[in-house]
Amino acid sequence: MQNIKLIREDFPALSRNINGKPLIYFDNAATTLKPKSVVAAMDDYYLNGAANIHRGVHRLSIEATDKYENVRKICQKFINARSEQEIIFTSGTTLGLNSLALSLAVQKLSHGDEVIVSAMEHHANIVPWQLLRERKGIVLKVLPMNDKGELETQHLEALISPRTKVLSCVMTSNSLGTINPVKHITAVAHAHGLEVIIDAAQAVAHGSIDVQDIDCDYLVFSGHKVYGPTGVGVIYGKEEKLKALPPALGGGDMIFSVTWEKTIFADGPVRFEAGTPPIAEVIGLGAALEYFMALGSENVERYESTLLKRAQAAVKRIGGLRIIGEAKEKVGILSFVIDGVHPHDIGTLLDGAGIAVRTGHHCTQPVMAFFGIPATTRASFSFYNTPEEVDFFVEKLTEIQKFFST
Ligand code: PLP
Repeated sequence: MQNIKLIREDFPALSRNINGKPLIYFDNAATTLKPKSVVAAMDDYYLNGAANIHRGVHRLSIEATDKYENVRKICQKFINARSEQEIIFTSGTTLGLNSLALSLAVQKLSHGDEVIVSAMEHHANIVPWQLLRERKGIVLKVLPMNDKGELETQHLEALISPRTKVLSCVMTSNSLGTINPVKHITAVAHAHGLEVIIDAAQAVAHGSIDVQDIDCDYLVFSGHKVYGPTGVGVIYGKEEKLKALPPALGGGDMIFSVTWEKTIFADGPVRFEAGTPPIAEVIGLGAALEYFMALGSENVERYESTLLKRAQAAVKRIGGLRIIGEAKEKVGILSFVIDGVHPHDIGTLLDGAGIAVRTGHHCTQPVMAFFGIPATTRASFSFYNTPEEVDFFVEKLTEIQKFFST
């Protein structure tokens, strides 16, 4: 990465010492660190205005509304949507997926109708559909994966029946790092008239997203995974789809008029934004996406891939280490197990060396069950990480493995 020293200065957390050692932050798939510009944008809103949006005629409210609405344009550019009217703000991927599941349930799912998800979904794209299975009697089908952690898309067509209405699939797996061929999957699903939802929670931070190219009907992501604040996320929906979709939540701001007899909903994305939204967080998200776009998603992708390759090649020399997720197309996520060492012990010992990784099932228990393991250790890389950090991590990991094997 060019100017890595300058980039790192944008993230004050990277100058901290943890347990007497410089912090090495490899927990980026859980959440990314935030650059100063994100915090400054949120501070500016809170310190110089903090007014509510849309409803006020006074200056502060108009300023806040302008800033908030401007982020729709930034998001539009970020995912190459046709219009900013296709951008809905929500609290994150989880609420985005739940809202879409509820809206689609009202719009088109009856008892016996089928929804397809993939074998590598985050719980956020499993549980909402299981709730619908309990409440409405829908059927949940699973597109399988192989031992490398790649989806067996050749089986997709056979899974689809006349009762299949929705396909909801993760773009990049958070526990395996696999990049799924979502454009192809969408094309197959569309050929059978399915609605397609893409969970881009992990994909957003590792490369470019082009919703027009993918041609999905809906796509969701969280701000905090892409260097923005927590508590904010985006639902993208094709404009014509959103026009026909009933809102999952009701309340203030999403209406045109309310009488005791009837509510007429507002037009456009605000129809799906009931109540006071996370205004500061939306503004922070705008700053984060501008930061990310200025780096260039291709540069980020290329750089993180070199970190991943360096780490993968080195850890393969550690005895008893097995990489979980060896797909051909991967982002900078390295999940692994070491014979005889519990991931939590690995995580704790790495923390002692100042290295933050994630251990556990990563909210993908069916993935863990598939590989016959309870948990992995996951190192996930960002553009602000360095090859030297990767080398130090591998050195510590080697020591840990030796310690437990003697
Ligand atoms: N989907 C994927 C692939 C994820 O990695 C995550 C978070 O780790 C989620 C969904 C849920 O995101 P959030 O907790 O921000 O709603």
